Amino acid sequence: MAYVNFVSQEGLSNKCLERLDNLMTILCGCSPAFTSKDVIRFMNEVEHSIISKIEYYCNRCGYQKKHKRQNCLKCDISARNLLETVTYVKCDVTWQLKDLLRAHGHEIIQAHDIIISQRTSHFTPNDIRRSEGYRRLVESRERNEKNEINLICTYSSDGAAFKRISRREATPVFINCEGFDVETKKNGRSLCMISITFSDGGIKKSLIHETIDK
Ligand SMILES: [Zn+2]
Repeated sequence: MAYVNFVSQEGLSNKCLERLDNLMTILCGCSPAFTSKDVIRFMNEVEHSIISKIEYYCNRCGYQKKHKRQNCLKCDISARNLLETVTYVKCDVTWQLKDLLRAHGHEIIQAHDIIISQRTSHFTPNDIRRSEGYRRLVESRERNEKNEINLICTYSSDGAAFKRISRREATPVFINCEGFDVETKKNGRSLCMISITFSDGGIKKSLIHETIDK
């Protein structure tokens, strides 16, 4: 896992990975136990589980294109320059949510039991589950007894510049599960990525708002 993290964080190419393998073979006198092929296979599996589709849009009018370099059929803008194309990567939120709930879902069930039995002082002051807003959205006692739980989520979006690629801007849209323990939510660990949108020339904010509305 440390090797996979290193490769993805440093953005190493496949060629570079092969050279690393060769280098390790020379240094250790035998081929490494975990080779570049294992890293690539692992990363492809994760990619297939998370990415559900990739679409391309005109950066001026939002018209959907068949390919990255197709000219816009609506406003007739040439796509020779990739500044005019927005790439939209839709992620599998269900897959991510299931993973999160498998590990921490019991915290939400426990918290809702506490809220329904009016023991909210149990939560620390910075815990959102103590707030009136959260408690209003919790399921009724009747539904809770039938084992039905409301999953309370918020959406967020933030533009971030890609490291080392100065003009390219990526805008991820996240769904944030609010019902977990404060400790679980630390450092964005309860965030699931809905989509990531990027263009070489930055993205018009109106397109992002449209995505969130949908
Ligand atoms: Zn257009």
